[in-house]
Amino acid sequence: MNKIKNVFNKLAKPLMVSSTAYLFYNYYININKLLISSKTALCLRTNEKISTENGKVPEYFDQVNIDELEKKYPNLIVVKSKAVDYLIGMLRDKSIGTTQFRMYSNRIIRLLIEETLAYEANQQVIKESPLGYYRTSINPRKDSDYCVLSILRAGNSMVEQFLEIIPGIYVGVVLVQRNENSEDKHPIFFFEKLPKNIDEKRVFLLDPLLATGGSASATIEVLKSKGVKEDNIFFLNMITCEEGIKQMFSKYPKIKIMTAKVDKYLLPNKYIAPGIGDFGDRFYGTV
Ligand code: URA
Repeated sequence: MNKIKNVFNKLAKPLMVSSTAYLFYNYYININKLLISSKTALCLRTNEKISTENGKVPEYFDQVNIDELEKKYPNLIVVKSKAVDYLIGMLRDKSIGTTQFRMYSNRIIRLLIEETLAYEANQQVIKESPLGYYRTSINPRKDSDYCVLSILRAGNSMVEQFLEIIPGIYVGVVLVQRNENSEDKHPIFFFEKLPKNIDEKRVFLLDPLLATGGSASATIEVLKSKGVKEDNIFFLNMITCEEGIKQMFSKYPKIKIMTAKVDKYLLPNKYIAPGIGDFGDRFYGTV
């Protein structure tokens, strides 16, 4: 017994003490780690906000009150989902490359489309499961009642997911680009290719970021000139800001806006913050 005690004291005890000390040290180091976002850092232990560039960079920790915003704009639908919040958090990260950026955006877009389609399922029915009857809602429309309209180039990133979910959907495109050299970044309209009977369809207008709403407004003007009714237009985007929402609803109060996230700031260069930077460049790898 004494022999075992001696071995324990000589070998195992110091080993246990040092590994406990190591574990504690590791815990302390990790708990003091900084959660670094693009330009600011958040200390996980103290919750302190720390600027990473001599106090000169802005901090984007403020959150928008979504309930208030939805009350103010009844046709605004913000997806409330833990999965979407998580995926947007991953998407914002400036350190991810094009492959990961595409993967996260595709996953967000898919959830956004499903949420939109759930709003279209507004007919109450009774169906039968293998074990009995149940109530549910169905979408009375067919695939061909819908048209997806992509605002090139970034809007195209959302089309593929639509085609997987609604294989028979019509597809239109418009090329509207903001004039990056102008102060207000006003849109310039270049090109449109739309299905012939678009006035009879529900239109899903696609642009992943709704910032000033300039390109979307120019596109809606084209749609209205073709006879599309405002209440048949759903504008789907992944991130927006209150300024963009306000602009769109002040001009087109009957459209619906479906979004995955509302950010607090629209910067003077008309980028959304914290945002994700230039969506098209990050998705198509042209950064
Ligand atoms: N378009 C983008 O790609 N990003 C923004 O923040 C705003 C518009």
